[in-house]
Amino acid sequence: MTSAIPLAEALIACPSVTPATGAVFDCLDAALVPLGFAVHRSLDGEAPDGPVENLFAIRQGPPGSRHFAFAGHLDVVPPGEGWTSGAFVPEVRGDLLHGRGAVDMKGAIAAMVAAVADIPANAGTLSFVITGDEEGPARFGTVALIEHIRAVDSIPDLCLVGEPTSVSRLGDTAKIGRRGSVNIWLTVEGREGHVAYPHLADNPAPRMIALLAELDALVLDHGTDWFQASNLEITEIAIGNPAANVIPSRARARISIRFNDLHTGQGLAARVAEIAHRHGGTSHATISGEAFLTEPGPFSALVAAAVEAETGIAPELSTTGGTSDARFLKALCPVIEFGLCNATMHKRDEAVALADLDALAAIYRRIALTALIPQ
Ligand SMILES: [Zn+2]
Repeated sequence: MTSAIPLAEALIACPSVTPATGAVFDCLDAALVPLGFAVHRSLDGEAPDGPVENLFAIRQGPPGSRHFAFAGHLDVVPPGEGWTSGAFVPEVRGDLLHGRGAVDMKGAIAAMVAAVADIPANAGTLSFVITGDEEGPARFGTVALIEHIRAVDSIPDLCLVGEPTSVSRLGDTAKIGRRGSVNIWLTVEGREGHVAYPHLADNPAPRMIALLAELDALVLDHGTDWFQASNLEITEIAIGNPAANVIPSRARARISIRFNDLHTGQGLAARVAEIAHRHGGTSHATISGEAFLTEPGPFSALVAAAVEAETGIAPELSTTGGTSDARFLKALCPVIEFGLCNATMHKRDEAVALADLDALAAIYRRIALTALIPQ
């Protein structure tokens, strides 16, 4: 069996704080070409959220064979301070490999490559959907890759995203869905004036308070079989008035809604806009991502069986956590996320157990093989 460890080290050694470009892609490219993959690289989008480097690699199976895709990102979050060793100097201490991206998610990408190295070319079509911008704005990352995949008519049957989904030990959790996210700024305009002369002013603060009270009291839903209830949180209240004797001219506030698949970002934005309007306010929404759900079925059963065969534990099928690029990939085919233990992701001294890297490669190999050759 091919080990994932050398490639994980090589990828970590290429600094790739989001958005990732250049050397880290060269490194993956050089690993895929000898395995028979045709590699397409592109720079997508323009400033300020681009250009973003993306990579789509495909190894065609026999005509009519199934197509299984691995998806992920080579960018990492900034390392921050206080690392025991260099964030971009892969270092094995004990049974752990340290470095930024070890679990999120260069380690998983190395495991994907090790997995396909041991899958015969005639088993079916395999591909890699790898972006350099998942941790950043993500406007020109996986979205651009999906456009390319459609343009070259290479839509996969199933897709696995290698985000670090495991919690306490490798295999305990896979994600079949994620909630969506929308942030909404609220503004209530008034007319400034002297506190002692309120009849000459119009204070927007009481209307903002009433608006926020109505929003805070909303019950969006009670959850579903697969999702917790959607929640709306007030994340900022801003008047910014330094003067004790001045009625302010404007009140602003921001809310954030994490929503399940009973809602859409647009629908929630419209609902909030209507409530804001009734209180004399306006709203401006930014949808970070829609919810996605791959309903439990053959794909989740296949992933769970592969995980259990390699680790001895049946993964919980979860929909918790923030958004991921699965929110885009769901437009192509059923998507499930499974990967390493996430305890150290986005932290200093991010590290992966060496044994987990090769165990993950074995799991990925089993998932891809079973997906390509339906039982
Ligand atoms: Zn990630």
